[in-house]
Amino acid sequence: MEDLSQLCIHTITTKPWSIEESSERFAEAGVQGITVWRDALEGRDIAQTGDRLRNLGLSVVSLCRGGFFPASSAEKRQAAIDDNKRAIDEAAALGAPMVVLVCGAEPSQSLAASRRQIREGIEAVLPHAEANQVQVTIEPLHPMYADTRSAVNTLGQANDMAEMINSPWVGIARDVYHLWWDDQRQSEIARCGRNGNLSAFHVCDWRVPTEDFLLDRGLMGEGCINVPQIREWVEEADFDGFMEVEIFSNRYWSMDQGEFLDQIVEAYRKHV
Ligand code: ZN
Repeated sequence: MEDLSQLCIHTITTKPWSIEESSERFAEAGVQGITVWRDALEGRDIAQTGDRLRNLGLSVVSLCRGGFFPASSAEKRQAAIDDNKRAIDEAAALGAPMVVLVCGAEPSQSLAASRRQIREGIEAVLPHAEANQVQVTIEPLHPMYADTRSAVNTLGQANDMAEMINSPWVGIARDVYHLWWDDQRQSEIARCGRNGNLSAFHVCDWRVPTEDFLLDRGLMGEGCINVPQIREWVEEADFDGFMEVEIFSNRYWSMDQGEFLDQIVEAYRKHV
């Protein structure tokens, strides 16, 4: 039996619940960590919300999400930098140690050009990140999202970028959904750990067949990803942080969220 001391759940995983309800239910179920999506904070006092989460015994693991740096005009790129600074401010107010980045991509230009703008965007926000003691964390996304969501599609590309920037205020989030297929993943996980860049680990599963490439993620154990194997590699790379359950699913959002939470805890115990 797996204890729950490393179990974290993203607020978006139980999207029908408000952050007040999800945090109470997570704490009751013995979940130890929560990753907060910015939409869950709308209309709230962010600092008070952070205190509320900690008073329930939850660790605030990260804030999702910043990024979307590439754009066709300098004005739009500056607007993205400004929004990322706001995300860093929100993370600082919440007491979250990192902002996870969905880096972005601009389909009218090459992926290499988008990656350059991502690096420039990250470098532009780094002084603000350091001043607020908040890390910005690059999350490589599956290449099916390379058109508009992210030009960083492998852990190798994320490692290259983090090593080039070379700052303790930049890290990498490793999500099994995005990188399960990559035959370089074991060596790139080791490289990520060796360079001190492995900051976060997201889990779910790839359903077969997947009916919606954004909103049909599975519970761990339900699809074709060997999550325990990847967890082992991540731990060999000295990662000892939270296992963050991040599931976007119309199927699960339409069911009773209390029952879904029970299923998450069970899947975590058996398949992570
Ligand atoms: Zn993720």
